[in-house]
Amino acid sequence: KAMDIQGKVIAITGASSGIGEATARLLAEQGARVVIGARRTARLEALAGELGQKGREVALRRLDVTQREDVRGFVEFATGRFGRLDVLINNAGLMPLSRMDQLKVDEWDRMVDVNLKGVLYGIAAALPVFQSQKAGHFINVTSVADRVVVPTAAVYSGTKFAVRAISEGLRQEVGRDIRVTLVAPGATQSELANTISDPELRRLAIEQYRQELIPAEAIARAIAFAIGQPADVDVNELVVRPVAQP
Ligand code: NDP
Repeated sequence: KAMDIQGKVIAITGASSGIGEATARLLAEQGARVVIGARRTARLEALAGELGQKGREVALRRLDVTQREDVRGFVEFATGRFGRLDVLINNAGLMPLSRMDQLKVDEWDRMVDVNLKGVLYGIAAALPVFQSQKAGHFINVTSVADRVVVPTAAVYSGTKFAVRAISEGLRQEVGRDIRVTLVAPGATQSELANTISDPELRRLAIEQYRQELIPAEAIARAIAFAIGQPADVDVNELVVRPVAQP
C-alpha cells in the first residue's frame, strides 16, 4: 500500500484551527486514529463531530501546551484510548510579531512558553512511551523562520531556531528507534496572523501574505508524506513554501 498511515495513533497539538486542523482531517481520512488537542474545545468538538459522522476515529481533549501536566495528560489520554502512540505532532504555536524595541515582553514569554517549551513538554511526555514501544515519531512544526530572521520576527525566529536545533539533537540521540521530522511551512492560510497585537503589523502581515498563501492542507500533505514512509525511513526536514514566496 502506498501510505503506512492506516491505523496509526496520531496526537496533534493545536488542532483547533489552521495547519493542525487540516492535518487532523487529512490523517483521519487516511485511516489514522487521531487525538486532537487545543484550548478551544468547541472547535475540537465540531471537528470531531464532522469526522465522526464520516466514520473516522477521533478523540479530543482540552490541552494547554504551556502546562506540563496537561501535555502529559494529553499523551496519557491518547495511549489510554488507543493502546499506543505512533506519532506526536507538536504543532501548537503563535506568532505575535513586533519590533524588539516595542518591548512586548509578555508576548516574548508567550512565544517561549508555547512555541518552545510546549514542544519540549511534548517530547518529555511522549519520549518514554516511544522508547518503551521501541518506535515512535515526532513531527515538530517550525517555520521558514527556523533558519531565516527578518525584522519583527526576532523572538518568533528564536523559538523556531531552538526547536530546529532540539529536533536535530533529539534525532541524533534517539533516531535509531524513533523518527524525528521537522516541518517548516512558509506562508500558509490559518489564523496565525490574529496573534499579532500591533494593528499595523497585523494589517501588513495579512496584506503581504494575501497573494501567496497556500492552504493549510498543503502542510498536512507534507506531514502525511513523512508519516507514510516505511519505518526505516526518517524524513528529517520538509520546507514547504508557496511558489510566490521569496
Ligand atoms: P493557527 O493560529 O490557525 O493555529 C494555531 C493553533 O495552536 C491553534 O489550534 C491554537 O489552538 C493552538 N494553540 C495556541 N496556543 C496554544 C496553547 N497554549 N495550548 C494549546 N494549543 C495552543 O495557526 P497555524 O495553523 O498557522 O499554526 C500552526 C503552527 O504552524 C505554528 O507552530 C506556527 O508557528 C506554524 N507556522 C505557520 C505558518 C503560517 O503561515 N500559517 C508559517 C510557518 C509556521 P487554541 O487557541 O484553541 O488553543
